[in-house]
Amino acid sequence: MIRFATIFMLAWFSVAPRASAQSCPGTGVAVQILGSGGPRINRDRASAGYLVWIDGRSRMLVDAGGGAFLRFGEANARMEDLSLIAISHLHPDHVSDLPALLWGDAARTAPLAISGPSGNDAVPGFPTFLTHLFDQKSGAFQVLAGTLGGSSGRGVPLEVAVVDVTKKDASTVLSQQDLAVTAISIPHSNIPALAYRVRAQNATIVFSTDQTGADPRFVDFARGADVLVMHLAIAAGTTSPLHAAPDVVGRVARDAQARRLVLSHIGQFDLGPAVADVKKYYPGPLTVGADLQCTPVGPAYTSVARSSRRSRR
Ligand SMILES: [Zn+2]
Ligand SMILES: [Zn+2]
Repeated sequence: MIRFATIFMLAWFSVAPRASAQSCPGTGVAVQILGSGGPRINRDRASAGYLVWIDGRSRMLVDAGGGAFLRFGEANARMEDLSLIAISHLHPDHVSDLPALLWGDAARTAPLAISGPSGNDAVPGFPTFLTHLFDQKSGAFQVLAGTLGGSSGRGVPLEVAVVDVTKKDASTVLSQQDLAVTAISIPHSNIPALAYRVRAQNATIVFSTDQTGADPRFVDFARGADVLVMHLAIAAGTTSPLHAAPDVVGRVARDAQARRLVLSHIGQFDLGPAVADVKKYYPGPLTVGADLQCTPVGPAYTSVARSSRRSRR
């Protein structure tokens, strides 16, 4: 109990977002931020990446933006422990480190499930994107042709799943006894994008990724999450065709009745007013994300969150 409380206090009062090693718990479920920043160069924050830990194993990676490769190593995560890489969309700050992660990892020979969105006129579908990267004859990284079953080239062999973003309902991405994942399309201007809902043991984590927050289907999708990770990409009082303003982030988290909100993908602006705007609407426990920060999820975590929520009233 004291250990969990200490982690939250550190997160809460953390002013400098400098990455510092935090190991995730050895038992139960935790979510770790690999990159808490957005697309701009930032000395303190890598671009998007998240790990879901189950009983001390790095079972799922969500996104792999610039810097996620380094943070993956710093987190002591292992490719051979992954059951899924879930890619939200094909902006570089979410996917540019993917080839680095798949390159020459001799420790993993078993196929690895990977998911991403279907395409449209602006963006190739996920399988086409992977072909551009790894195809044995035409790919940019032909040395990684083994990822797509090529007879030459190395790389972790992938089992590719594409989620149809024109579908209104959630799609099942992975269904294992202790790890089940669904995805739903979300509005991110004209870029096909997916939010992921993860059921790990008895805990639920939802990754909102980049979105405007304008589609009420996401509120239903995220409802009751133990931890909801949302992106704080733009400053208070501003708007964007790509991203939710901070007050919208707060409203979505409130309407979804998230038990804890973790803010990530943090842009370089005055954070104080932005977080204040989130808090105007979201009354629950809130964590401002930092690289390598670890948030325990599940029964022990929930009991701490409830008591801290009471103490603030
Ligand atoms: Zn982004
Ligand atoms: Zn984006």
